[in-house]
Amino acid sequence: MTAQTPPPSQKEFCIGYPLYEEFTFAEEDDEAGWNVMFSQEPIDTYCPGCNAHSILRQHVTGSIPRDLDAWVGSKRLAVVLRCSRNAAHKLFFLFDIEGRTVQKIGQYPSLADLNTYDVRQYSAVLSKEDFKEFTKAIGLAAHGVGVGSFVYLRRIFENLVGAAYQIAKTGSGWDDDAYQNGRMAERIQLLAGHLPEFLVENRSMYKILSQGIHELTEKECLAAFPVVKMGIELVLDEKLAAAAKQQKLEQAKKAIHGLVSRAGTEARSVAGE
Ligand SMILES: [Zn+2]
Repeated sequence: MTAQTPPPSQKEFCIGYPLYEEFTFAEEDDEAGWNVMFSQEPIDTYCPGCNAHSILRQHVTGSIPRDLDAWVGSKRLAVVLRCSRNAAHKLFFLFDIEGRTVQKIGQYPSLADLNTYDVRQYSAVLSKEDFKEFTKAIGLAAHGVGVGSFVYLRRIFENLVGAAYQIAKTGSGWDDDAYQNGRMAERIQLLAGHLPEFLVENRSMYKILSQGIHELTEKECLAAFPVVKMGIELVLDEKLAAAAKQQKLEQAKKAIHGLVSRAGTEARSVAGE
């Protein structure tokens, strides 16, 4: 990336950027570069030690350089983020700098580990295979593989639409011919009511997905990745909510059943049965 895009924050460079992706800071952005290397501002992100989100902060041993261009030159700098809950929880990042061009050349834990935590909840509503591919897509995108990650997202997307179809086709007035002969955007339109509104309104999303595999560059795929991922997550969020509601309904049914049968027993004992 070049200096035309806004410079990444410390969190973006550490947690969001793939390894070996270069960013050249403009001279007037020295402070942004300084922040990446030396800032001790709190970062809210996933801590593998806590296995939850926590507040982490850069842990600097020794003094912090004051000059805003102290990071510029030919050098390697390490950033260690330490968890505020437990000082033994640390994230390590190693940066290589040539002039004002910076790339991350190492880190622990891996980008995939840091970026798949927030989607773990979806394993409850995805098949094992789809969930594996969903995290794989995120891992690939995190490592700068755009087209490859789209292949997985597209499969998951098609499976979600297919699952909605299985439900919709049992309804009365379902036009199966229209569905079978329709393109993906038309199919999604037909499935309105069985898919989240967002997806129905933005059904062109699938076009990005299939276009991605054939026409878009790695960079264009990576840029579109967050939007497509969010679309899939919205479908999954609705599934999670429906599953939680179903569970509550069943609990309530059980509880009411328990109450009724207890009341019956008490009534009988009062009557001397
Ligand atoms: Zn922690």
